[in-house]
Amino acid sequence: MVCLNGKVNPVVDFTLNFVAPRLLLALIIIACGGALVTGFRLHGDPTPTISSVSVTHTSAGSTLTLYGTGRLEMPTQIERTARGWVLRLARTSISDGAIDVAMMSSKLAFKTEQRAGACLFTVVSTYDSITAKRSGTNDIVLTLITKRSSPKEPQRTVEQPAERANVDAGTKKGPWSLDVIVIDPGHGGQDAGAEGVNGAYEKHVVLAIGRKLRDILAKSMPTTKVVMTRDSDVFIELFRRTEIANQAGGKLFVSIHCNSMPTKPHPAHGCETYILRPGRSDDAARVARRENASVNFETAKKRYEGMTEDQIIVATMAQRSFVKLSESFAVKIQREATSGGTLTDRGVSQAGFYVLVGASMPNVLVETGFLSNTHDAEYLASSKGQVAIAQGLARAIQSYAREYQQSLQH
Ligand SMILES: [Zn+2]
Repeated sequence: MVCLNGKVNPVVDFTLNFVAPRLLLALIIIACGGALVTGFRLHGDPTPTISSVSVTHTSAGSTLTLYGTGRLEMPTQIERTARGWVLRLARTSISDGAIDVAMMSSKLAFKTEQRAGACLFTVVSTYDSITAKRSGTNDIVLTLITKRSSPKEPQRTVEQPAERANVDAGTKKGPWSLDVIVIDPGHGGQDAGAEGVNGAYEKHVVLAIGRKLRDILAKSMPTTKVVMTRDSDVFIELFRRTEIANQAGGKLFVSIHCNSMPTKPHPAHGCETYILRPGRSDDAARVARRENASVNFETAKKRYEGMTEDQIIVATMAQRSFVKLSESFAVKIQREATSGGTLTDRGVSQAGFYVLVGASMPNVLVETGFLSNTHDAEYLASSKGQVAIAQGLARAIQSYAREYQQSLQH
């Protein structure tokens, strides 16, 4: 067991010793069952071993990559304890003393423990959220986000009266200020998304809305950086979208889409916003299925093989530190995007959207309107409609930012 503070090393790789085959066999026999997520294992490596770990520190937090000799199990349990985050990787081995203390820092220390065939991975730190996602076939990436500044830290504006007078949404700087917003126009390139009853493609509509939203935010929140996951007609893989957001240190992620029914014209219409949680209704599942179908345009589809409803539950658990913020933001979007009365309010829903799984920040997916509905499609394809939707989203972001800022100051 190791739990030491050391100096920060931006990237440190180290290699673990392989556990003797007999020990592996013993571990398999006593391996604890009950894994939520199942995956295939390579022949000759029935118990995958964490062979090395790399740590990268970013402005937003830290990233831990666990490299497996075989396909590592996704954590079946992510629990926050008084000592930090505890992740349970079923049927996974790791050698005693394998962790290099040089990887530790004042921001991040961790220990591992082998128990009943599972590897308990404890992150001892002040991070307040952690997400796990698969990388390639074997590896797992853990994204850790720095905890909010404690009240003792100089984040108040007492010493900065000039700034205080100008406190507006997202203008405050600090590790937890809402300084980076990520706009994710869905689809793109070969993935056109839904085709409207009027011939408009979802990929074009959502890019236009995303650009307009960016331009509005540039004026209304000038000190906030706005990152677009795409700003042209290109295809971006689903996992890559939150990767871009995480790497940019995003504090809010909004994925913009258009809804559609299998037949058109169709009477269903209106705007709805989703947060990442296991789907509650057939309709929510339908929407998630349609949006998740974007992976059919990706070359490395295996990445999503283990993405079952159980996996969504695990991802939801990992995101629980900001699920309330995501929900609050979703409610604001519904209120603002439908305030003009042109789009009806279908409310906030939940479903398992792959594009949201890796987000290390509050995140939503907004289905602006139905391209399969004659009225909605006309509105969505028009510059006037796109501007109105972008303005609604901007108001929701500003409202969220104000509340968020106030929550930091109390
Ligand atoms: Zn879409």
